[in-house]
Amino acid sequence: MSTAEEVKARITVPEVLLRYGLPTSSRGRIPCPIHQGEDPNFAYTDGRFHCFVCGAGGSVIDLVMGLFGITYPQALVRLDEDFGLGLMRGQRDERTRRKAAEVAQKRAQERRRREDGKKVYQSLTAAFCAEIRGLRLGEERPSQWNGEGEPPALPASWVEAAHRIPYLEYWLEENSNFERWEANSHRSHSNSQLHSGGLPGGDGPL
Ligand SMILES: [Zn+2]
Repeated sequence: MSTAEEVKARITVPEVLLRYGLPTSSRGRIPCPIHQGEDPNFAYTDGRFHCFVCGAGGSVIDLVMGLFGITYPQALVRLDEDFGLGLMRGQRDERTRRKAAEVAQKRAQERRRREDGKKVYQSLTAAFCAEIRGLRLGEERPSQWNGEGEPPALPASWVEAAHRIPYLEYWLEENSNFERWEANSHRSHSNSQLHSGGLPGGDGPL
């Protein structure tokens, strides 16, 4: 049995009239409450009604639609609630359950995304710290120039370290924790640059 059939089977027209403070009559004829008539042109039985003036007619559901100017589904909900039938409770619970499941799923996705992000951040930080250490170890000091002839060329490893270390240090300071790194990657992401907070690749901005 559908909800509408159930509603029609369990609620009669005179019950609806009584529930909403309208007159009833033993002859089943009252002034029409839908077009607010004065003469008893509104005829009803337990299951159906018909107004001979405005032409309204139908079941208890049509009656409630006409009385309150609401749609068919709204009339079903209204009758279900006003007569305490509890027919829609299951559907409401199901909607609530589905919504809760969606929220839980979104939270889980967000948590996973953050955990993945933390791993990326930690490995980047570790890699850049290791790179700084490596560059410092390989650094040859430039030889002293005694002031005669051409100054000696700077060792390539020293030049590389001199360029790279300040930028790596700058990156590590700018991204000193996961939250800052995430905020920075958001920013660089929306500028459609490299993901992951601007990788200090190449010579950096120097
Ligand atoms: Zn009428």
